[in-house]
Amino acid sequence: MSNQRSKLVVGNWKMHGRLAANAALLQGVARGAQALPRGVGVGVCVPHPYLAQALALLGGSRVAWGAQDVSAHEQGAFTGEVAAGMIADFEAAYAIVGHSERRAYHGESSGVVAAKAQRVLAAGLTPIVCVGETLEERESGATERVVGAQLDVVLAVLSVDEAARIVVAYEPVWAIGTGKSASSEQAQQVHAFLRTRLAAKGAQVVNVPLLYGGSVKPENAAELFRQADIDGGLIGGASLKEGDFLAICAAAGAGADVVS
Ligand code: PEP
Repeated sequence: MSNQRSKLVVGNWKMHGRLAANAALLQGVARGAQALPRGVGVGVCVPHPYLAQALALLGGSRVAWGAQDVSAHEQGAFTGEVAAGMIADFEAAYAIVGHSERRAYHGESSGVVAAKAQRVLAAGLTPIVCVGETLEERESGATERVVGAQLDVVLAVLSVDEAARIVVAYEPVWAIGTGKSASSEQAQQVHAFLRTRLAAKGAQVVNVPLLYGGSVKPENAAELFRQADIDGGLIGGASLKEGDFLAICAAAGAGADVVS
C-alpha cells in the first residue's frame, strides 16, 4: 500500500464562484495549506475569468492554480475560446483537459483532448488529462478498454519527454458529482492498469501522477490515497468547501511517504 511518489490534490471548481466568495475560499485554502507536509502539492482549477484573482490571492502561496479547459488551437478566429498561452499569462500551473463533462456535453473526442494536451504543454503548463468510463461501460466489462483507449490517444501524440510532464486523472463518470465514489479497490485496479499503459510509453513516464476523481470526500480520501497507484485526487464538489478541501489535502499528507 501507498507509494514513494509525492501526493497532489487539485480542486475543480467547475462553473461555480463569484469574486467575493472566491476571495474567502482562496485565502482560506492558502492559509490552511501552510500546515500541510511538503510532500503534498495543492492546486485549484478555477473558471477562466477568475485566473487573475487566483494569481493575486495565491501568488507566493503553497497553492497552484489552473484552468478547467483550453482551446485546441493556438490562436485565431475561435470566438469564445481561451488559448493555453492566455492561461499561462496568469501564471497558471495546470489546465484540465478531457473532463467527462466536456466529453459528454461538448462532444470532445480523445483526438481533441490530445490536441488540447499538446497546447497546454507547449504553453509550459501541466495538462491534467481526464479519463473515465460510464456505468454502462463498467457493467459491460469495458472499463480498461475505454480508459486505455482514451489515454493512448493522448500518449500517441506526445513525445516521451512531453508524456512525462502530464498528470492523469481517472474519473469514473458514474462517480462524478453523484456522491457514489469508486471503492478504493476499484480505483486502484484501474490506476494499476493505467500505470502499465504509461510504462509502455517509456520508463520516464511510469511515475506520472495518477489522480482519482469522483465524489472524494474527507471521509473516503485517506483510504483512496493509501492505494499503491493513487497519487492524489481531482476534487469537484468538495473543493468548494474550504474545510472539506483542506481535510482531503491533509489525508493526502498522511499518505505522502516522501517529503520532496
Ligand atoms: C470532478 O468534477 O472532477 C469531480 C471529481 O467531481 P466530484 O468530486 O464532485 O465528484
